[in-house]
Amino acid sequence: MERIISLLAILSVLGGFPAQAQNIKTGSEKSASGFQWPEGKKMALSLSFDDARLTQIDKGIPLLDQYNVKATFYVSPKAMKQRAEGWRKAAANGHDIGNHSMVHPCSGNFQWSRNRALEDYTLKKMRRELDSASLVIMEVTGVKPHSFGYPCGQKFVGRGKKTKSYVPLIAAMFETGRGWLDEAPNDPAYCDMAKLYGMELDGKSFEEVLKIIETAKNQGGWLIFAGHEMNDEQAHQTSLLSTLEALCRYATDPSNEIWIDNVHSIASYINKNRAGNIK
Ligand SMILES: [Zn+2]
Repeated sequence: MERIISLLAILSVLGGFPAQAQNIKTGSEKSASGFQWPEGKKMALSLSFDDARLTQIDKGIPLLDQYNVKATFYVSPKAMKQRAEGWRKAAANGHDIGNHSMVHPCSGNFQWSRNRALEDYTLKKMRRELDSASLVIMEVTGVKPHSFGYPCGQKFVGRGKKTKSYVPLIAAMFETGRGWLDEAPNDPAYCDMAKLYGMELDGKSFEEVLKIIETAKNQGGWLIFAGHEMNDEQAHQTSLLSTLEALCRYATDPSNEIWIDNVHSIASYINKNRAGNIK
């Protein structure tokens, strides 16, 4: 028995055994999903924020820029115009500026959305609205959006038997569509680019965030966090700057083996590198 163990030790030193250890060394290890992230990374992480809230330009983006972290922002054109120069600079600096519709239609079950209820929409009306929003984004930033964030995470138009999914429209118009209040990271080998899961970042401490990251890392997943305001104090729909700073520091530390980048960069990589040519 002793002889076998010492033989294994010698082989291991020579790099001939075990295969698993060798893979870790060369960075060619595949994730649990069978998908291989670049440079031996164990997972991918995207930060995304919605609605072009003013705190994103005023506080959030300057913080991300300190760590050279590139995020995705699904902007509402009306709010975007209040910080047009800031958004132009953010796009030029590598942040991914995504479409989030013109008027943010959600179910009329939300009182505030009753005058623009998805129940009263048609696919044609939605397409026109998404085209208009992309035009505004191009006017302000000079960049055509690749990414779409479903307002309220809702993916339908119409009501009852006449309900239709607008996922096929998003698949035709954009590289990706991200949901909201979803419950898991995305499996890069399988996920539908037009129905990416977005997990809530708002209100979370770094300890809570870290638990989600560790789960995603064990699965070799692509974790997309979604938030709204980026500010110092706990408030409705607010991602805390203290959490964001700890998150940026953690995710950019090479020893944590995380690829942090915006949704467009990671989606492009997955589309080029996964088996089966699925989108
Ligand atoms: Zn929104």
